[in-house]
Amino acid sequence: VLSILVAAMGGCQPAVRIETRAVLDSVSPDRLRADVDTLAGFGTRHTLSETVSDTRGIGAARRWLKAEFERATAGREAAGLPAARVSFDTHIVEPDGRRITRTTEVANVMCVLPGVMPEAAGRLYYVIAHYDSRASDVSDTEIDAPGANDDASGVALCLELARVLSEFPLDATVVLMPVAGEEQGLYGARAHARAARAADGGAGLDIRAVLSNDMVGDPSGPGGRMARREVRVFSEGLPAAIFEDDTLGLGAVRRVRSLSTESDSDSRQLARAIAQVADWYGTVVQPRLVFRPDRFLRGGDHSGFNEQGFAAVRFTEVHESYDRQHQDVRTEEGIGYGDLPEHVDPGYLADVTRLNAATLIVLANAPSVPGNARVIVARLSNETTLRWDPSPEPDTAGYEVVWRATTDSEWTHARDVGPVNEFVSPLSKDNWFFGVRSYDSEGYRSPVAFPRAAGE
Ligand SMILES: [Zn+2]
Repeated sequence: VLSILVAAMGGCQPAVRIETRAVLDSVSPDRLRADVDTLAGFGTRHTLSETVSDTRGIGAARRWLKAEFERATAGREAAGLPAARVSFDTHIVEPDGRRITRTTEVANVMCVLPGVMPEAAGRLYYVIAHYDSRASDVSDTEIDAPGANDDASGVALCLELARVLSEFPLDATVVLMPVAGEEQGLYGARAHARAARAADGGAGLDIRAVLSNDMVGDPSGPGGRMARREVRVFSEGLPAAIFEDDTLGLGAVRRVRSLSTESDSDSRQLARAIAQVADWYGTVVQPRLVFRPDRFLRGGDHSGFNEQGFAAVRFTEVHESYDRQHQDVRTEEGIGYGDLPEHVDPGYLADVTRLNAATLIVLANAPSVPGNARVIVARLSNETTLRWDPSPEPDTAGYEVVWRATTDSEWTHARDVGPVNEFVSPLSKDNWFFGVRSYDSEGYRSPVAFPRAAGE
């Protein structure tokens, strides 16, 4: 709907370039199938399972993942692109009295595809999944835990993104990162997010978005349920970070209330941006936005990034099958239990991978979200004056002001205002939510900046 409105208002069409289509078309269900089978074939990938064997346990799995990322990205330099950096991101976790029973090396596998535009290469866009698995007893490190859908599906998606994006130039930097320790308490993702926040003497890494894919391979559910053309995208409303940082105090919550930003966090703008990309590209699998941090009272690896103030969302299929999740492989009274590869639909997984790929391409190629966006409140007025700072990327071509009624969930209107840094709308800020996003010369659009109030 929004793209039609943009066209009607004379804005330039969002970029749906032929080269991008080719990348999406090259996503291979066969490779995804093979990767899920290989990962399940390690028997168990429990975080505390053995690390010496080359055929069984989490050590074998992570060494295979690292080698596979290296293979997937070997052609970058020959294609004229900066070489990929593939490494282990290792954290030592001490016994926690719960699910970590001995000192454990939790190793995330990182594949970094450096951006090609100097002004944008510092911006980081992550796709993560967890490669550890578990069975019925979360502490059983020996028994088979194939973890095909939870979460070899998401890990296979990361590997496939490395293959199809390796030789495709992106302005900003992409990080593909299967993490460990999720089932024991989100250890790998949390440790990485904390370190990222503390990096560079506290300045922090410039992580702009994290897409966590956890259980994205099985569109079916019990009782004949099926959602082949949808994937849920969860996003926080109130940012977890304002409750993590005691120095912010109640003031941060008061600011949310006074500006009514309870549904306009950076993570929520990211979720809306994903929906927008799916609309532009007409992806087979469309996101079903769920406006809550995760499933009811549950959590995932994106939460660790949210806690540190990074925009992060979770992709998960629509229906969950609890007979297949966190279950020993067995048959009881004619019912089969266990998270087996046969329950992963590679065609569906490929379509979720395409949605992630399209999102990454748009996020990494678009200019930065406009900085310092603000509604000017120097005097009472029926109009709305918006100002923002120019995005630093040299291919920034202009800005769009978006708006929606306060009762709407997604941006319903967009207006191309060109290469300016101020816009006055005749509509009242009392009755509408406003935002602003940037676009480049190829039509790639950033997520929306939600303005603060400024008395200037
Ligand atoms: Zn999971």
